[in-house]
Formats: sequence, structure tokens, C-alpha cells
Amino acid sequence: MEIVENIHIVDDFYFDFLGRKARINPVLIMDEEISLIDTGWKGSYKIIDGYLISLGKGIADIKNIFITHYHPDHIGGLKEIKDRSGARVYAHYLDIPFIEGEKSIPVPKMNSDRIHARLAEMSPEQMKEFASMIYIDPVKVDVPLKGGEEFNIGEKMKVIHTPGHTEGHICLYFPVHRLLLSGDMTRFEEGKLFGPVEGFSQDIVQARESLKLIRNLEIQAMAGFHGDLFIREKESLPLPL
Ligand SMILES: [Zn+2]
Ligand SMILES: [Zn+2]
Repeated sequence: MEIVENIHIVDDFYFDFLGRKARINPVLIMDEEISLIDTGWKGSYKIIDGYLISLGKGIADIKNIFITHYHPDHIGGLKEIKDRSGARVYAHYLDIPFIEGEKSIPVPKMNSDRIHARLAEMSPEQMKEFASMIYIDPVKVDVPLKGGEEFNIGEKMKVIHTPGHTEGHICLYFPVHRLLLSGDMTRFEEGKLFGPVEGFSQDIVQARESLKLIRNLEIQAMAGFHGDLFIREKESLPLPL
């Protein structure tokens, strides 16, 4: 789906995570160079490739991959896509050690009872599949970010460092289109806007503090990585967060 000119959410992108089917929103920016924002889980290159083919392109045409943060639903497919495209990878420098495999990704605090119960029900086959899905192949990041950078992507794209969900979490803002790609900072679901999920955030106090960095941006459309697209009537009002 094209959200604004040349900026697309990859359609119908669902993944089954521990028995819960959830939508994720990798974004493609179809400039002369194609850029991808977050990759989705391992194996996601097939879905992204299918979407690009429908636009007359393919996975090998991706030139830039921006990672909002190191969680496996955002970087699981990174190695497969980088291998097939040779794209440059961009991420905040504080998250790079996790993406490059130097530090291991912390286990989320959330719903550990539910996760344990679900894991206990799994057949060895399902367990193997799950383990391979959350295992992250390390990938070299080519361009470290620190926040504040501007790129001529989708007219203009600004990097905003919003620490807390992970230390190096970033949002990407397109001032010409008044579009914010908010990663895991916000989620719009069943008509309600939510902030970062506590159990999956490294430091929820800091993550909520970081909401202030995006609240007063002029936003007409906002796409979190999870949930639905959020569209506003009055873009000059602060976000209801
Ligand atoms: Zn996350
Ligand atoms: Zn996520």
C-alpha cells in the first residue's frame, strides 16, 4: 500500500509468533534508489521480494536498509536481504553491537508465563522452527547513526534518536509528507494509539520520556512497525500520547 508518494507499507505481512498471528509493517521507499525500513523476521525477503516484483523491481534492487532497533522482528531478515542486494545497512551506534552479534539480545521481560506455557506445548519440530526464527545471524552495519542525520530519501528523511525501547531506537520523520515511521515507539490498534510496550522495552521510563521527542512533530500519518496506519485530521495537534 502506498502511504504517501513513493513510500509503501509492504501489504499483508503477517507472522505467527508463539501462536499469535501479528501484522508487521516493513516500509519501502521507491526513490531512484530503493530503501527498506526494518526487515521483519527471518524469511521475510520472500514477501518483500513479492511486493517489489508487483512494482516492477526485486529484492536485489534495495540499496539502503535502515534498522529502527535490534529486536528479531526488525532484523531477523537482515542477513538474507543484505546478501541478496548488497544494500548498505544503517543503524544507531548503540544498537550496533547487538546487530553485529558482539552482544546478545536480552530476553524480553514480558509475559514470560505465557511464553513458557506456549514453549512447553511445542513439538520438537515447532521448537526447532521457533529457535531458528529467533536466532539472529550477525550482520555488519555499514553506517552508524547517532540521531539528527538527514537523508534525501522520500524527499527528506530525518533520523530521531528515541532511546528506551532499546538504547539505540530511532524513528524516521519525513517532514515534506508529515509522515513518521515510529518503529516500536507507538502502535495504533483497534482505533487506539499506544506507546511503547513495557515488557519489551529495556527502559520504559526512558522510552516514555522519548515520546516527547515525537509528540509535537507535525504528523499527518504515522506507521508503527506493529498495528495499523494512524491518520490524523489535524496534523498540528500533539499526538494523544
Ligand atoms: Zn522492539
Ligand atoms: Zn517490534
